[in-house]
Amino acid sequence: MPSRIQSIGLRLDRWFSNHSRVLPWRDDPSVYRVWVSEIMLQQTQVATVIPYFENFLKKFPTVEALASCSVDEVEKAWAGLGYYSRARNLRAAAIQIVKAGGFPSTRDAWLEVPGVGPYTAGAIASIALEKPEAILDGNVERVISRIDRVSRSQAGSDAAYKAKLWEKAGEWVRVAHQAGVGPRNFNQALMELGAMVCKPKGAICGACPVQTHCQAFSKSEVENFPEKKKKKQWLQVAEEVHAWIDRDQLLLRRRAQGEWRAGLWDFMDQAPSGKTYKKVASFQSKHVVTRHKITRKTTVWVSEKRAGNPLPKGLETIWIPLDEVQIDGPQKVATGSAFQKTIQAVLSAARGNSI
Ligand code: SF4
Repeated sequence: MPSRIQSIGLRLDRWFSNHSRVLPWRDDPSVYRVWVSEIMLQQTQVATVIPYFENFLKKFPTVEALASCSVDEVEKAWAGLGYYSRARNLRAAAIQIVKAGGFPSTRDAWLEVPGVGPYTAGAIASIALEKPEAILDGNVERVISRIDRVSRSQAGSDAAYKAKLWEKAGEWVRVAHQAGVGPRNFNQALMELGAMVCKPKGAICGACPVQTHCQAFSKSEVENFPEKKKKKQWLQVAEEVHAWIDRDQLLLRRRAQGEWRAGLWDFMDQAPSGKTYKKVASFQSKHVVTRHKITRKTTVWVSEKRAGNPLPKGLETIWIPLDEVQIDGPQKVATGSAFQKTIQAVLSAARGNSI
């Protein structure tokens, strides 16, 4: 007779084998593919990630290809996914891995890799390497907290609550492994159950393979777990940018290391000092980026004469021909979402002034 945890493992394993979604990184769970997918899935939903993952793998099919690309190339392949430090860390990690002669083979060694935290290290070790290591993301937290009625208030603090969940996630994957359930299937089944059945609102308990073991279900307390967190604290940001258009070219500057959105290209922060520029439009737009609510004021300046318009010193700048600007920005440099959403309005304003 299997123990309770063994039974949870065996049921999840059977259920996952019959109900798992087809996802591109699941067909071939090699270390490289699992690593890239897990980095993309940090803070981004599965449906959004799929096309980016496929394009990224076409562009960089191996860790060696990723290690030999430029920062610009990797940021460009990432453009639109947000949290660009993930892309820069992937490239830095690829260089480190190639220098070391191959991928790390344990969870602890993965923790030394840039951009890899406890969740990602556990996911790579279990999904790609079949090691009985724990994972804990939002889906797993919800499933475990409901099955065992683990709450923040009982744990006493957020840290104690998280530690309890990690401990259970580790115990479950190890006990399931001893019962013959592979860590790859077990951990993915926990995540899949959270994503498809044990949903934040409206859990489909009637379709749940572990309903008989679920304490929150048996006490009719499903919606009480996990306990609600405090509301997200938004940071209000007001920013002002200036689009300099000099005849048929647009000036962009690259945000420097240490600045917010470092590495991305954007409009200028300052108005042009050249006397030939004319202000033709000014508009406001609102954007949400991670925890920031941004109110952006964009002013459009045009000049008919290129000569004599001085550029600010100490900035990395580039002139982009207007006919190379696509619907969401120039193709050859990586830009952020606020830029991409306003570039067409900038071009319209400029064209309205016969540029
Ligand atoms: Fe989640 Fe319901 Fe299954 Fe419990 S019975 S694990 S609440 S889906």
